[in-house]
Amino acid sequence: IKTIGVLTSGGDAPGMNAAVRAVVRKALVNGKQVKGILKGYTGLLDEEIIDLSANDVSNTIERGGTMLFTSRCKEFMTEEGQKRGAEICRKHGIDGIVVIGGDGSFRGAQKLAALGINTIGVPGTIDLDISCTEYTIGFDTAVNTAMEAIDKVRDTSTSHERCSIIEVMGRNAGYIALWCGIANGAEDILLPENYDYDEQKIINNIIANRKRGKKHHIIVNAEGVGHSTSMARRIEAATGIETRATILGHMQRGGSPTCKDRVYASMMGAMAADLLCDGKTNRVVGYQHGRFQDFDIDEALAMVKGIDPYQYQVAKDLSKHC
Ligand code: ADP
Repeated sequence: IKTIGVLTSGGDAPGMNAAVRAVVRKALVNGKQVKGILKGYTGLLDEEIIDLSANDVSNTIERGGTMLFTSRCKEFMTEEGQKRGAEICRKHGIDGIVVIGGDGSFRGAQKLAALGINTIGVPGTIDLDISCTEYTIGFDTAVNTAMEAIDKVRDTSTSHERCSIIEVMGRNAGYIALWCGIANGAEDILLPENYDYDEQKIINNIIANRKRGKKHHIIVNAEGVGHSTSMARRIEAATGIETRATILGHMQRGGSPTCKDRVYASMMGAMAADLLCDGKTNRVVGYQHGRFQDFDIDEALAMVKGIDPYQYQVAKDLSKHC
């Protein structure tokens, strides 16, 4: 391997810059050249490729977003697009690529690996929904951002004795909702994985809590579970308690990464560069059982993980007033 390429793909996540910086600096330390591919697979197919020096990644570790930009690229889902991508890599002398993104991006990396370009995936998503790893870049920052926002909504909710539905990100995975549910002491948590979602139960819970003298009722709702605004209207009609929905939205994706995201993203980016330098391909970096490890991409994509039922039970129990 002489030249390593690096790209960020799919949804952006705070800490991606730390990972890019680590790939660049570690590859340079190992005597390789580094090229940045802009805008994910779209930029690869458009040949938006730049040289990266150690200086180019200065003052990036503390910045949110991704300095390489990101995209979703339909063309790369086709065999033709993937072949063209591999040819473009060869044309630019890129013999190894680090792909920072989620499961979808890893599938793209898998295709490039099959076409002879060495690839290593690094898990970057605020949703924590990558099965081979207990940590993904951006989750820690996103969940802290959401937690702080929920604290603020809760203050005003208490003053006005309101019920608040706060929608957090995680269309297919409720990790942000579950963690905030515990961290913010939410009265109810609605998860996409949640089998027992029952609006009548929530309404009964709100009424019972109000009778006990609770001044607010916080419902943390993962994006994709019902429709928060219309849910608020129905709950208000059924309980007679003023109910508002707050959708946190894209603010959860931005901001300066936490210490954990900077450090873990740095470790993962560095490991990805080292793996490429060792001649490895079709691997993905993960964090499991207290250490950074690498997995075969095919095996990693076949793994499954879900919400820990005990964690969910604890979240529910800690909000109960018996
Ligand atoms: P994430 O990486 O966050 O899961 P996406 O699922 O949107 O985000 O995937 C990002 C990009 O990865 C897609 O826009 C596409 O270019 C590429 N990709 C996704 N799935 C595949 C696939 N099966 N084969 C090739 N490329 C894929």
